[in-house]
Amino acid sequence: MFLLNEAGYSCYLVGGAVRDLLLGRPTHDYDCTTDARPEEMLAVFRDYRVLKTGLKHGTLTVLVDQTQVEITTYRTDSTYQDHRHPDRVTFTTDLEQDCARRDFTINAMCFHPYEGIIDFFHGTEDLQNRLIRAVGDPLQRFEEDALRILRAIRFSAQLDFAIEEKTRQALYAKKEDLHYVAIERVEQEWRKILESPHPGACLEAYQDILAVVIPQISACTGQDFARVDQAEPDYRLRMALLFPDPSKADLVCRQLRLSNADRQAIRTLTAYREAPVSTRSQRRQLLSRLDLDPGLYATYRALLDPSVDRRELTEQLEQILQDGDCIHVSQLAVNGSDLLDLPVAPEQRHVLLEELLELVMQDELPNRRDALLAWLKKKNRLNRKIRFP
Ligand code: ATP
Ligand code: MG
Repeated sequence: MFLLNEAGYSCYLVGGAVRDLLLGRPTHDYDCTTDARPEEMLAVFRDYRVLKTGLKHGTLTVLVDQTQVEITTYRTDSTYQDHRHPDRVTFTTDLEQDCARRDFTINAMCFHPYEGIIDFFHGTEDLQNRLIRAVGDPLQRFEEDALRILRAIRFSAQLDFAIEEKTRQALYAKKEDLHYVAIERVEQEWRKILESPHPGACLEAYQDILAVVIPQISACTGQDFARVDQAEPDYRLRMALLFPDPSKADLVCRQLRLSNADRQAIRTLTAYREAPVSTRSQRRQLLSRLDLDPGLYATYRALLDPSVDRRELTEQLEQILQDGDCIHVSQLAVNGSDLLDLPVAPEQRHVLLEELLELVMQDELPNRRDALLAWLKKKNRLNRKIRFP
């Protein structure tokens, strides 16, 4: 900022960073706005590490210590193609015009250490009143860029702010435009909504709008939303609470193109949501299939079923892991090479070991080599008897 100022340009911190600063929230990214043109910024930051990827839209990313600062030339966005991207960006020297293109009043404030807060659209007032209000005509702003519809809901969830009435009405009027938003952007916003401290009320209030991009949310009930609020802000946990039916959950995950890891975790949670866990054997069987942190699983179970005690189940599952109970084939006291002496087809070896594992987990056999070998031999004799009577 000061480098640009020293070179004779204006430069302000703008957008989310100013909003978060005023709210006392931590900021994860910094945006600045300047009247310097891209080539002029490049000259000022010639000795810095910069990323030029956004340069044709006027954005230069400067790496200061470990932080990335995005500096953008004052812009006005002209008409919008496809309800998402402006046809062209026009640089301007007028800071107010640059603020006017921003989505919400609370995101349209600037800050300069010497000049203080610059607030053309009464963002500070809306911050105080905890309101999300579009800059300008909300209908037009959502029509220009439908992503703003999701951003409004997301900020409402993250900040626990209400959405100002006209802006709220425009959300409903323009909700079908959400079809224009790329699914990756939908997912980013959706994740931020679910990772907000208490998104339940917001999910319920804007259920119809969210259903345009996630139709399965229409079937969610007030109880589902209340559970989401009770859960810690873990994306996988909250997704599995909203969509406890495994096939439905998987459909949502695929539609939103979640990462394989998230999708797998949600699949495991939902698939084992009713697994019996009252005996140690049952818990071993569950753990042998669970590729998740037991604490996360126990949290999920306890939220779905009040008769399950989260702490107790977590401790019970962890105890099994700590005691080294046999829950995987690799922990058996025999292995594949012990089967080589037996007349067992290679493809049958793993099946036999799995069968042994089940018996050991159910305490029907001790996990001792002699006992397991004896069982295998007996089984082999029986099989032969059956096959060659
Ligand atoms: P976050 O906390 O997610 O970073 P943010 O408001 O900072 O929230 P960014 O995506 O970092 O969001 O964008 C920075 C600023 O750019 C916003 O505060 C806003 O002024 C402007 N902006 C971002 N996206 C849009 C949009 N779709 N339409 C209009 N202005 C936008
Ligand atoms: Mg930001």
